[in-house]
Amino acid sequence: MRAVIYDRFGGDLEVRQVPDPSPAPHGAVIRVRATGLCRSDWHGWHGHDSDITSLPHVPGHELAGVVEEVGSEVRAWRPGARVTVPFICACGSCASCAMGEQQVCERQTQPGFHHWGSFADLVAIDHADLNLVALPDEISYGTAASVGCRFATAFRAVTQVGRVRPGEWVAVYGCGGVGLSAVMIAAAAGARVVAVDVNAEALRLAGEAGAVHLVDAGDAPARVMELTGGGAHLSLDALGSAATASASIESLRRRGRHVQVGVLTGGPTALPMGRVLSWELEILGSHGMAAHAYPAMLELILAGTLRPDRLITRTIGLEEAGKALAELGSVPGVTMIVP
Ligand SMILES: [Zn+2]
Ligand SMILES: [Zn+2]
Repeated sequence: MRAVIYDRFGGDLEVRQVPDPSPAPHGAVIRVRATGLCRSDWHGWHGHDSDITSLPHVPGHELAGVVEEVGSEVRAWRPGARVTVPFICACGSCASCAMGEQQVCERQTQPGFHHWGSFADLVAIDHADLNLVALPDEISYGTAASVGCRFATAFRAVTQVGRVRPGEWVAVYGCGGVGLSAVMIAAAAGARVVAVDVNAEALRLAGEAGAVHLVDAGDAPARVMELTGGGAHLSLDALGSAATASASIESLRRRGRHVQVGVLTGGPTALPMGRVLSWELEILGSHGMAAHAYPAMLELILAGTLRPDRLITRTIGLEEAGKALAELGSVPGVTMIVP
């Protein structure tokens, strides 16, 4: 098969012929029809996940495609099925999985991190019976791949972890893929969304996704406090930095809820904990979404309430994927790769 591969962290990203994967007894091999380009791939390439990623490596974790082959223990799937997967593939046997919390599985395997990912013709997925999600015919591979990480993560962050309610003010820091998804999901839930970014084009897309106010990051959090009449009920750091996490917390009204969605790398992050204490703020983390939670989200996509396809701003081939990964952030919105 062809795959985008790198031999060292931060090194060249080339398309090469590599051996086809074969499924584990509990696993499946998927023929990739679409795979999204995500900031997490960029972090992986830079070696921020070097504790779990070995070299050489193939990135890619937001995918949809067709089951090519299944292992001997797989019961629920056969070749030919249209599927997608949550980027956190769960083990099915740890304490978290037993509680239905597969998104924080203790023995999770993430394609593109723990093993070779989906910037390739084929990708192997573990524990197929648990992790594959059936894709309705009406939902395209591109749309499905675009929900695999960022949209599903935003869906859980806004609706389940953030507990958004109609009429609430929601601030979203960072309007890349996950932030734009959060804007769309919060607006669809009836919230009033304030989008914050440094990039005017990203803010324009946030407006299209349903944000009622667009704020330059240089004016936040003060401008957010003003626009929301005393602070947002819910605020998300969808970028992942000490500055945006702190600004998100400082954008909340009393008893507000901050959800950390963007990946924070490096050591511990300093946050305004004095404000957290005196205003009784909640600080929450959100990490992906379990396969069993997908049908509710897919129904909203089928109904047209949520339109993740509208966040896709360009579609490229495998040959262009390496360059796009290295230059991540230069093109606002979601980039889709079709091998
Ligand atoms: Zn991702
Ligand atoms: Zn588990």
